[in-house]
Amino acid sequence: MFDLLVKNGKLVTADGIVEADVAVTAGKYAAFLQRGTAAGAEKVIDAGGLYVFPGIIDCHAHMNEPGFEYREDFETGTRAAASAGCTCLIDMPLNNDPPLINKGSFAEKYARVSRRSYVDFALWGGIIGEYDEAGLKKENNLEALAGLHECGVVAFKGFTCPNGPLFPAVSLGEVREALERLKPYGALCGFHCEEFDQIKRREQRLKKVEGRSAREKIADFLEIHDVWTEYSAVQGVLDMCRATGGRVHICHVSHPKVAQLIKEAIAEGLPVTAETCPHYLGFTEELLYEKGAPAKCTPPLRKRESVEKLWDYVLDGTLSCIGSDHSPAADEEKDNVTRDIWSAWGGLNSIQFFLPLMFDLAVHQKKLSPSLLARVMCEQPAKIFGLYGRKGAFVPGFDGDLVLVDPERDWECRQEKLYTKGHVSCFDGMKGKGMVVQTILRGRTVAVDGVYLPETAGYGQYIARR
Ligand SMILES: [Zn+2]
Repeated sequence: MFDLLVKNGKLVTADGIVEADVAVTAGKYAAFLQRGTAAGAEKVIDAGGLYVFPGIIDCHAHMNEPGFEYREDFETGTRAAASAGCTCLIDMPLNNDPPLINKGSFAEKYARVSRRSYVDFALWGGIIGEYDEAGLKKENNLEALAGLHECGVVAFKGFTCPNGPLFPAVSLGEVREALERLKPYGALCGFHCEEFDQIKRREQRLKKVEGRSAREKIADFLEIHDVWTEYSAVQGVLDMCRATGGRVHICHVSHPKVAQLIKEAIAEGLPVTAETCPHYLGFTEELLYEKGAPAKCTPPLRKRESVEKLWDYVLDGTLSCIGSDHSPAADEEKDNVTRDIWSAWGGLNSIQFFLPLMFDLAVHQKKLSPSLLARVMCEQPAKIFGLYGRKGAFVPGFDGDLVLVDPERDWECRQEKLYTKGHVSCFDGMKGKGMVVQTILRGRTVAVDGVYLPETAGYGQYIARR
């Protein structure tokens, strides 16, 4: 007798679609059975006509707790994630106060968030540099990295450009030292890659020009964050990978020129992985011109031909995983009334449409197999971030995570229906097809028809790197 039997569904694996029934017992996959096999279970779900994913992993999400709960906390962010089919997210160490940069801040964060999550979660640790944005000397945390690794963080995140006073950028020398220190552990270092000096100099020049219209300011913003700022930062980080042999992950690749650079590094044999995000695959700079502040992110949205070409690198495996880069803000930090493109928060409120959006883009618009999504949103993130063995594939003994998707059901993003704290979203009014009808975490349903179940708050567990 199984605890749960999901029958008649189409199981989506990275290698293809399998028509099978799946049984869960004690929170783990217990058996994969031929369709129609008589098997007893306490609860039976008929997934006829539905795709069933082995849980969706969001490898790049910002929950902002502790310290910036006015933007998002673990409860609000993870209930939105659960609603969108995400069963495990990997939370970023920044936009936290304190940032997650040593054993002490790990303990503080763990104590606060470990009983509040709707979905399972792992943590990124942070790497911070010695100088802040104003050039003031602080203290980097390179000596604390090994201790943080012992806490089970799945990767380390650094910025090549400043991210506020709490999270100073790392220099290439610090990138190199971090890679050297973490290489003996096989640990992964991910980087936000934009070259600050190029941005800063041109920003200073362009911001001085008076009388620019809102549209002209957006053009200036795009010009400042052009592909070369991203490209040269990635180039530098890849050189440090080359120099040390340490594992590198390039976060949120936005442009095919950057992806090509990474592809060549992988072909050379460097231990490099990379991700992109739904917004870089589905939207162009036209959305930024149309929506303004709500569509601001860095790197920014790119031109149509770049967006089309970026898909080639998802298909060939260069960009082997997709993260939402959900980066929440309070409404007044993100609307066009109180902010212009320069002062608006640079990040998108996107986690509540993570799988629905990717499903619509890949399966309906690009006519690709849902298997691609099982590869880039389940299996590869699990393997890259050390969660495989529990997450990422239909393997007996792995966590009984199941995400049921109705491929033909329509959805619409309405910002008043977002479960996140901020409600300003550049996706407001957007429609698509492919709706998450049930999210099951370790055998327990946590969301139905895009609505989270409040009684499952705190059911999510911390998952340490395996
Ligand atoms: Zn991010």
